[in-house]
Amino acid sequence: MQSKVSVKLILHKLRMNNYGQLLLLPLLSCLFFLFPESPLHAQENSLDRVSIAERSDGKGHVLRFHMTQSVDSFDVYQPSVDLVQMTLYSSSIDTTNITLPEQSDVFDEISFYDIPNGIGVDLYITKNKYFSSKAYPDGHSDDLLLGLTKTNKIDLEYVTRDMEPLIWSRLTMNAESLLVEDTEISSAELPKDSNYSKFKDKLKFDVVVIDPGHGGHDPGSIGYRNVKEKDIVLDIAKKVGDYIKEYLPDVKVVYTRDDDTFVGLQERGSIANKAEGDLFVSLHCNSFSSRQPHGTEVYFLGLEKSETALEVMKRENRLVRADNDTEQKELTQEELLIYELANSGYIASSERIAGMLEHQLDDRAQRRSRGVKQARFVVLYHASMPAVLVESGFISNPSEARYLTSDYGQSIIASAIFRSIRNYKKKYEKSQHFNTK
Ligand SMILES: [Zn+2]
Repeated sequence: MQSKVSVKLILHKLRMNNYGQLLLLPLLSCLFFLFPESPLHAQENSLDRVSIAERSDGKGHVLRFHMTQSVDSFDVYQPSVDLVQMTLYSSSIDTTNITLPEQSDVFDEISFYDIPNGIGVDLYITKNKYFSSKAYPDGHSDDLLLGLTKTNKIDLEYVTRDMEPLIWSRLTMNAESLLVEDTEISSAELPKDSNYSKFKDKLKFDVVVIDPGHGGHDPGSIGYRNVKEKDIVLDIAKKVGDYIKEYLPDVKVVYTRDDDTFVGLQERGSIANKAEGDLFVSLHCNSFSSRQPHGTEVYFLGLEKSETALEVMKRENRLVRADNDTEQKELTQEELLIYELANSGYIASSERIAGMLEHQLDDRAQRRSRGVKQARFVVLYHASMPAVLVESGFISNPSEARYLTSDYGQSIIASAIFRSIRNYKKKYEKSQHFNTK
């Protein structure tokens, strides 16, 4: 028997607390800026309540969106088995005083996002429940109804295959695309002199090494509902690689592992060095003894400064042997000093890309950032190139574990990492050009 779980509500931008008004002001002015023609004085539509009822035919459920006015248009989209996304369009929709069912055995979480002229809704379906979804206006009121019809996993996976989730921030920021950003360098800025072409191949940023942590007999951290770090980071790694292959076709992607096998820390560095990588990105997930902590962290090689960095460092440096014993590999002060002398430029570059990653994860992917930190990671030490380690979230936190195991969450983290790599490549190639003049 599956017990009912309490429903979690997330109001993005429109927070349902006493600060709601304060948060609303900049948002409204922002919308006004984007859409000066919007009739802001018009009577505001609001979504006051979401309720759920079992269908009388026993074939599923109906979610009722209680509106004060009917919406202008709506859409339902199901990018993965565990996520239903909706757009509700009206001149504006207020969700600040919304009430939700206390608990549900159909969905775990519902999030509302402000988008131009409406709201976006993410509905996370409870694990092991499979529904097809369809929305229709109620004939007797202004409410909108979402019908969830029971189906099976195989059919649903077939329907949702190859679908990409809607990225709400893309709409709110009015960006042309998630993958296009302001640091775009036009072709007119690219070097034209012939001297450059001689050096071009050497100076090109054309190999990225992606290092999904752990693997094989080493599961890494085990999180909420037994999710394993090694599985999540492999999924994210492949998504990052796919973005690179699609949008940066001149960049070669090298994985230290692309399946569930164990690779030692030093070996990962050797693979990267042999491939003559221009950047090494190691992917991991955090965990903690309590469920509370959440957020992303980005590390580069250096002297550790904080207690928390020390904890993460110890965990990620731990070598799990085939007999399940562990041994702790520590970098000495001297080893670190030698690395700094031999690779002085890399540490500065690593810090730069770490900052870009943090910006993307925090601002664009809207994850809580715990900052850029330094630590003595063995895996970064062995890679003779700029190298960073991303802790993409805490799998000990139930909400973050769900996010990181969902196709949706993994795609957002992966696209944030991809954008940092792309921006770094552009800055790198531009600066290399100026240095050769
Ligand atoms: Zn790890």
